[in-house]
Amino acid sequence: MKDSFGRNVHSMRISVTDRCNMRCDYCVSGGKLQLRPEHELLSLSEIETVIRAAGELGFDSFRFTGGEPLVRDGIPELIERVGALPGVRKLSLSTNGSLLARHVDRLAAAGVKALNISLDSLVPERFRQITRGGSLARVLEGIRAALRRECFTVKLNAVIMRGVNDDELAPLAALTLEQPVTVRFIEYMPFGAWRAPQDRPDPTVSSHEMLERLEREFDIERNVSGPVGEGPAQYVQVRGGQGFVGLISPVYQPFCERCNRIRLTSDGYIKSCLLQDERFALRDWMRGPDYSFPELRRRIAEAVLLKPREHSHARSMDMSTVGG
Ligand code: SAM
Repeated sequence: MKDSFGRNVHSMRISVTDRCNMRCDYCVSGGKLQLRPEHELLSLSEIETVIRAAGELGFDSFRFTGGEPLVRDGIPELIERVGALPGVRKLSLSTNGSLLARHVDRLAAAGVKALNISLDSLVPERFRQITRGGSLARVLEGIRAALRRECFTVKLNAVIMRGVNDDELAPLAALTLEQPVTVRFIEYMPFGAWRAPQDRPDPTVSSHEMLERLEREFDIERNVSGPVGEGPAQYVQVRGGQGFVGLISPVYQPFCERCNRIRLTSDGYIKSCLLQDERFALRDWMRGPDYSFPELRRRIAEAVLLKPREHSHARSMDMSTVGG
Protein backbone atom coordinates (compact mmCIF):
# COMPACT_ATOMS: atom_id res chain seq x y z
CA MET A 1 0.00 0.00 0.00
CA LYS A 2 1.09 3.61 -0.52
CA ASP A 3 2.13 5.68 2.47
CA SER A 4 1.42 9.39 2.72
CA PHE A 5 4.63 10.22 0.81
CA GLY A 6 3.76 7.95 -2.14
CA ARG A 7 6.18 5.14 -1.21
CA ASN A 8 4.92 1.65 -1.97
CA VAL A 9 5.24 -0.05 1.42
CA HIS A 10 4.96 -3.78 0.83
CA SER A 11 7.66 -5.42 2.92
CA MET A 12 7.47 -6.46 6.57
CA ARG A 13 10.34 -7.48 8.87
CA ILE A 14 9.19 -9.70 11.63
CA SER A 15 11.29 -10.15 14.73
CA VAL A 16 10.15 -13.58 15.89
CA THR A 17 12.15 -13.51 19.11
CA ASP A 18 14.36 -11.27 21.21
CA ARG A 19 16.47 -14.32 22.16
CA CYS A 20 19.84 -14.82 20.53
CA ASN A 21 22.74 -17.23 20.97
CA MET A 22 25.22 -14.44 20.25
CA ARG A 23 25.75 -11.05 21.91
CA CYS A 24 27.24 -8.98 19.10
CA ASP A 25 29.04 -5.92 20.36
CA TYR A 26 27.22 -3.53 17.99
CA CYS A 27 23.78 -5.04 18.57
CA VAL A 28 23.65 -5.76 22.30
CA SER A 29 25.02 -2.75 24.12
CA GLY A 30 26.63 -3.73 27.37
CA GLY A 31 26.63 -7.40 26.35
CA LYS A 32 23.42 -8.24 28.18
CA LEU A 33 20.21 -8.95 26.27
CA GLN A 34 17.15 -7.41 27.92
CA LEU A 35 14.92 -10.47 27.53
CA ARG A 36 11.18 -10.19 27.92
CA PRO A 37 9.23 -12.89 29.71
CA GLU A 38 7.92 -15.40 27.17
CA HIS A 39 4.26 -14.36 27.56
CA GLU A 40 5.22 -10.85 26.41
CA LEU A 41 6.37 -12.20 23.05
CA LEU A 42 3.83 -12.71 20.30
CA SER A 43 2.91 -16.35 19.85
CA LEU A 44 3.56 -17.86 16.44
CA SER A 45 -0.15 -17.85 15.68
CA GLU A 46 -0.41 -14.16 16.63
CA ILE A 47 2.50 -13.42 14.31
CA GLU A 48 0.75 -15.34 11.53
CA THR A 49 -2.44 -13.36 12.09
CA VAL A 50 -0.57 -10.05 11.78
CA ILE A 51 1.09 -11.28 8.57
CA ARG A 52 -2.28 -12.37 7.16
CA ALA A 53 -3.70 -8.90 7.84
CA ALA A 54 -0.64 -7.27 6.22
CA GLY A 55 -1.00 -9.60 3.22
CA GLU A 56 -4.58 -8.41 2.75
CA LEU A 57 -3.25 -4.84 2.63
CA GLY A 58 -0.88 -5.73 -0.21
CA PHE A 59 2.28 -6.71 1.69
CA ASP A 60 3.97 -9.43 -0.31
CA SER A 61 7.49 -9.70 1.11
CA PHE A 62 8.23 -10.98 4.61
CA ARG A 63 11.62 -11.23 6.29
CA PHE A 64 11.99 -13.20 9.50
CA THR A 65 14.60 -11.88 11.89
CA GLY A 66 15.30 -11.47 15.60
CA GLY A 67 17.20 -11.83 17.92
CA GLU A 68 18.18 -15.04 16.23
CA PRO A 69 15.10 -16.46 14.51
CA LEU A 70 16.43 -20.02 14.46
CA VAL A 71 16.63 -20.26 18.27
CA ARG A 72 12.83 -20.24 18.41
CA ASP A 73 11.10 -23.56 17.75
CA GLY A 74 8.66 -23.73 14.87
CA ILE A 75 10.04 -20.98 12.66
CA PRO A 76 10.41 -23.03 9.44
CA GLU A 77 6.85 -24.28 9.98
CA LEU A 78 5.61 -20.70 10.51
CA ILE A 79 7.34 -19.60 7.31
CA GLU A 80 5.77 -22.47 5.40
CA ARG A 81 2.29 -21.47 6.60
CA VAL A 82 2.94 -17.84 5.67
CA GLY A 83 4.06 -18.97 2.21
CA ALA A 84 0.64 -20.52 1.66
CA LEU A 85 -1.18 -17.22 2.30
CA PRO A 86 -2.52 -15.47 -0.79
CA GLY A 87 -0.32 -12.77 -2.30
CA VAL A 88 2.89 -13.76 -0.52
CA ARG A 89 5.70 -13.44 -3.06
CA LYS A 90 8.94 -13.45 -1.12
CA LEU A 91 10.07 -15.09 2.10
CA SER A 92 13.48 -14.34 3.55
CA LEU A 93 15.42 -14.89 6.73
CA SER A 94 18.14 -12.95 8.54
CA THR A 95 20.30 -15.21 10.68
CA ASN A 96 23.65 -15.33 12.38
CA GLY A 97 24.16 -18.65 10.60
CA SER A 98 25.19 -20.65 13.65
CA LEU A 99 22.17 -22.99 13.48
CA LEU A 100 21.73 -22.82 9.74
CA ALA A 101 23.35 -26.11 8.74
CA ARG A 102 20.75 -28.08 10.68
CA HIS A 103 17.76 -26.04 9.43
CA VAL A 104 18.68 -25.37 5.83
CA ASP A 105 16.68 -28.21 4.24
CA ARG A 106 13.57 -27.30 6.20
CA LEU A 107 13.94 -23.63 5.23
CA ALA A 108 14.30 -24.53 1.57
CA ALA A 109 11.18 -26.70 1.80
CA ALA A 110 9.32 -23.85 3.52
CA GLY A 111 9.95 -21.64 0.50
CA VAL A 112 12.63 -19.29 1.84
CA LYS A 113 14.33 -17.68 -1.15
CA ALA A 114 16.80 -15.26 0.43
CA LEU A 115 19.16 -15.70 3.34
CA ASN A 116 21.05 -12.83 4.95
CA ILE A 117 23.79 -14.16 7.15
CA SER A 118 25.84 -11.99 9.50
CA LEU A 119 29.59 -12.40 9.00
CA ASP A 120 31.61 -9.63 10.58
CA SER A 121 35.04 -11.23 10.52
CA LEU A 122 36.96 -14.10 8.97
CA VAL A 123 39.38 -14.25 11.89
CA PRO A 124 38.11 -16.84 14.42
CA GLU A 125 39.30 -15.08 17.57
CA ARG A 126 38.04 -11.69 16.43
CA PHE A 127 34.73 -13.22 15.39
CA ARG A 128 34.43 -14.70 18.88
CA GLN A 129 35.12 -11.30 20.43
CA ILE A 130 32.67 -9.32 18.25
CA THR A 131 29.88 -11.87 18.77
CA ARG A 132 30.89 -12.47 22.41
CA GLY A 133 31.38 -16.20 22.06
CA GLY A 134 30.23 -17.13 18.54
CA SER A 135 32.00 -19.82 16.52
CA LEU A 136 33.17 -18.75 13.06
CA ALA A 137 33.55 -22.40 12.04
CA ARG A 138 29.86 -23.10 12.70
CA VAL A 139 28.76 -20.03 10.77
CA LEU A 140 30.96 -20.96 7.80
CA GLU A 141 29.49 -24.45 7.92
CA GLY A 142 26.01 -22.89 7.77
CA ILE A 143 27.01 -20.70 4.82
CA ARG A 144 28.43 -23.69 2.94
CA ALA A 145 25.25 -25.68 3.60
CA ALA A 146 23.13 -22.80 2.26
CA LEU A 147 25.28 -22.41 -0.87
CA ARG A 148 25.16 -26.17 -1.54
CA ARG A 149 21.36 -26.01 -1.76
CA GLU A 150 21.62 -23.60 -4.71
CA CYS A 151 18.07 -22.37 -4.10
CA PHE A 152 18.81 -19.30 -1.96
CA THR A 153 20.13 -15.87 -2.75
CA VAL A 154 22.82 -15.69 -0.07
CA LYS A 155 23.97 -12.32 1.27
CA LEU A 156 26.67 -12.04 3.89
CA ASN A 157 26.35 -8.93 6.06
CA ALA A 158 29.29 -7.32 7.82
CA VAL A 159 28.84 -4.32 10.11
CA ILE A 160 32.10 -2.47 9.63
CA MET A 161 33.57 -0.76 12.68
CA ARG A 162 36.72 1.31 12.62
CA GLY A 163 39.53 -0.22 14.59
CA VAL A 164 37.55 -3.46 15.01
CA ASN A 165 37.14 -5.11 11.59
CA ASP A 166 37.68 -2.40 8.96
CA ASP A 167 40.92 -4.10 7.96
CA GLU A 168 38.80 -7.00 6.65
CA LEU A 169 37.04 -5.16 3.83
CA ALA A 170 39.31 -6.78 1.23
CA PRO A 171 39.27 -10.39 2.51
CA LEU A 172 35.49 -10.26 2.91
CA ALA A 173 34.98 -8.74 -0.56
CA ALA A 174 37.30 -11.41 -1.98
CA LEU A 175 34.73 -14.06 -1.01
CA THR A 176 32.72 -12.87 -4.02
CA LEU A 177 35.57 -13.98 -6.29
CA GLU A 178 35.35 -17.57 -5.12
CA GLN A 179 31.63 -18.12 -4.65
CA PRO A 180 28.28 -16.82 -5.90
CA VAL A 181 27.65 -14.81 -2.74
CA THR A 182 26.92 -11.17 -2.17
CA VAL A 183 28.91 -9.50 0.59
CA ARG A 184 27.33 -6.37 2.03
CA PHE A 185 29.12 -3.84 4.18
CA ILE A 186 26.88 -1.95 6.60
CA GLU A 187 27.74 1.34 8.22
CA TYR A 188 27.69 0.91 11.97
CA MET A 189 24.70 2.72 13.47
CA PRO A 190 25.20 4.15 16.96
CA PHE A 191 22.29 2.45 18.69
CA GLY A 192 21.11 2.21 22.25
CA ALA A 193 23.52 2.77 25.07
CA TRP A 194 26.51 1.56 23.03
CA ARG A 195 28.99 4.34 22.63
CA ALA A 196 32.51 4.21 21.30
CA PRO A 197 34.85 3.82 24.24
CA GLN A 198 36.92 6.95 24.72
CA ASP A 199 40.08 5.19 23.64
CA ARG A 200 38.63 4.10 20.27
CA PRO A 201 37.83 6.32 17.27
CA ASP A 202 34.24 6.86 16.04
CA PRO A 203 33.36 3.34 14.86
CA THR A 204 31.26 4.35 11.83
CA VAL A 205 33.11 4.04 8.53
CA SER A 206 31.16 5.70 5.72
CA SER A 207 30.24 3.55 2.72
CA HIS A 208 32.02 6.17 0.60
CA GLU A 209 35.27 5.48 2.47
CA MET A 210 34.68 1.72 2.29
CA LEU A 211 34.33 1.92 -1.49
CA GLU A 212 37.45 4.04 -1.83
CA ARG A 213 39.39 1.54 0.23
CA LEU A 214 38.07 -1.36 -1.87
CA GLU A 215 39.08 0.46 -5.04
CA ARG A 216 42.65 0.60 -3.77
CA GLU A 217 42.67 -3.22 -3.55
CA PHE A 218 40.51 -4.37 -6.47
CA ASP A 219 39.41 -3.46 -9.95
CA ILE A 220 35.86 -2.42 -9.02
CA GLU A 221 33.00 -2.13 -11.46
CA ARG A 222 30.49 0.45 -10.25
CA ASN A 223 26.77 0.80 -11.08
CA VAL A 224 25.99 -2.88 -11.49
CA SER A 225 22.39 -3.87 -10.91
CA GLY A 226 23.23 -6.39 -8.16
CA PRO A 227 21.40 -9.51 -7.05
CA VAL A 228 17.62 -9.82 -7.01
CA GLY A 229 16.08 -8.02 -4.10
CA GLU A 230 14.60 -4.74 -3.07
CA GLY A 231 16.99 -3.82 -0.29
CA PRO A 232 18.78 -0.57 0.37
CA ALA A 233 22.28 -1.53 -0.83
CA GLN A 234 24.24 0.13 -3.61
CA TYR A 235 26.05 -2.60 -5.56
CA VAL A 236 29.46 -2.87 -7.17
CA GLN A 237 31.40 -5.88 -8.38
CA VAL A 238 34.98 -6.98 -8.03
CA ARG A 239 35.82 -7.53 -11.69
CA GLY A 240 35.71 -11.22 -12.48
CA GLY A 241 33.70 -11.97 -9.34
CA GLN A 242 30.84 -14.44 -9.14
CA GLY A 243 28.92 -12.36 -6.63
CA PHE A 244 28.40 -8.70 -5.76
CA VAL A 245 29.60 -6.31 -3.12
CA GLY A 246 26.90 -4.17 -1.51
CA LEU A 247 27.26 -1.01 0.53
CA ILE A 248 24.52 -0.07 2.97
CA SER A 249 24.64 3.47 4.21
CA PRO A 250 22.03 4.15 6.89
CA VAL A 251 24.15 6.87 8.51
CA TYR A 252 25.81 8.84 5.70
CA GLN A 253 23.28 8.33 2.87
CA PRO A 254 19.94 7.37 4.43
CA PHE A 255 17.65 5.65 1.97
CA CYS A 256 14.34 6.84 3.48
CA GLU A 257 12.88 7.92 0.13
CA ARG A 258 13.17 4.30 -1.07
CA CYS A 259 12.13 2.68 2.20
CA ASN A 260 9.40 0.13 1.55
CA ARG A 261 9.13 -1.62 4.91
CA ILE A 262 7.60 -1.68 8.34
CA ARG A 263 8.57 -3.88 11.28
CA LEU A 264 6.80 -6.11 13.74
CA THR A 265 8.74 -6.38 17.00
CA SER A 266 8.87 -9.63 18.94
CA ASP A 267 6.76 -8.11 21.73
CA GLY A 268 4.02 -7.09 19.35
CA TYR A 269 4.55 -3.52 18.23
CA ILE A 270 4.48 -2.22 14.68
CA LYS A 271 7.30 0.18 13.95
CA SER A 272 6.98 2.04 10.70
CA CYS A 273 10.57 3.33 10.92
CA LEU A 274 13.56 1.61 12.47
CA LEU A 275 15.07 4.82 13.74
CA GLN A 276 11.98 6.26 15.32
CA ASP A 277 10.88 5.47 18.84
CA GLU A 278 7.19 5.76 17.94
CA ARG A 279 5.42 2.40 17.72
CA PHE A 280 1.93 0.97 17.53
CA ALA A 281 0.97 -1.53 20.22
CA LEU A 282 -0.86 -4.65 19.04
CA ARG A 283 -0.20 -7.45 21.53
CA ASP A 284 -2.33 -6.59 24.55
CA TRP A 285 -5.18 -5.36 22.37
CA MET A 286 -5.02 -8.56 20.26
CA ARG A 287 -5.38 -10.58 23.47
CA GLY A 288 -8.31 -8.54 24.74
CA PRO A 289 -12.08 -8.51 24.15
CA ASP A 290 -11.99 -5.59 21.68
CA TYR A 291 -9.85 -7.40 19.13
CA SER A 292 -11.16 -7.91 15.60
CA PHE A 293 -9.36 -8.83 12.39
CA PRO A 294 -10.70 -5.86 10.35
CA GLU A 295 -9.50 -3.51 13.10
CA LEU A 296 -6.07 -5.20 13.03
CA ARG A 297 -5.87 -4.47 9.31
CA ARG A 298 -6.88 -0.88 9.95
CA ARG A 299 -4.19 -0.46 12.63
CA ILE A 300 -1.47 -1.77 10.32
CA ALA A 301 -2.72 0.53 7.55
CA GLU A 302 -2.59 3.44 9.98
CA ALA A 303 1.03 2.61 10.87
CA VAL A 304 1.88 2.70 7.16
CA LEU A 305 0.13 6.03 6.68
CA LEU A 306 1.98 7.51 9.64
CA LYS A 307 5.36 6.29 8.38
CA PRO A 308 7.63 9.32 8.68
CA ARG A 309 9.22 10.87 5.60
CA GLU A 310 12.67 10.30 7.06
CA HIS A 311 14.17 8.94 10.21
CA SER A 312 14.81 11.01 13.26
CA HIS A 313 17.73 10.32 15.53
CA ALA A 314 15.79 8.56 18.23
CA ARG A 315 17.76 5.39 18.82
CA SER A 316 17.15 4.51 22.40
CA MET A 317 16.72 0.80 21.67
CA ASP A 318 19.29 -1.75 20.61
CA MET A 319 18.82 -3.57 17.31
CA SER A 320 18.50 -6.76 19.36
CA THR A 321 15.24 -5.42 20.79
CA VAL A 322 13.75 -4.04 17.57
CA GLY A 323 14.84 -6.79 15.18
CA GLY A 324 17.28 -5.93 12.44
N1 SAM B 1 20.48 -12.68 14.33
C1 SAM B 1 20.20 -12.29 12.99
C2 SAM B 1 21.44 -11.86 12.27
O1 SAM B 1 22.54 -12.01 12.81
O2 SAM B 1 21.32 -11.41 11.12
C3 SAM B 1 19.11 -11.26 12.82
C4 SAM B 1 19.09 -10.08 13.74
S1 SAM B 1 20.39 -8.93 13.53
C5 SAM B 1 19.84 -7.69 14.69
C6 SAM B 1 20.03 -8.24 11.95
C7 SAM B 1 21.01 -7.29 11.39
O3 SAM B 1 21.12 -6.12 12.16
C8 SAM B 1 22.38 -7.85 11.21
O4 SAM B 1 22.70 -7.91 9.85
C9 SAM B 1 23.25 -6.83 11.89
O5 SAM B 1 24.35 -6.71 11.12
C10 SAM B 1 22.39 -5.58 11.94
N2 SAM B 1 22.75 -4.65 13.04
C11 SAM B 1 22.57 -4.81 14.35
N3 SAM B 1 23.03 -3.75 15.06
C12 SAM B 1 23.54 -2.89 14.15
C13 SAM B 1 24.18 -1.61 14.25
N4 SAM B 1 24.42 -1.03 15.43
N5 SAM B 1 24.56 -1.01 13.10
C14 SAM B 1 24.34 -1.60 11.90
N6 SAM B 1 23.74 -2.80 11.74
C15 SAM B 1 23.35 -3.45 12.85
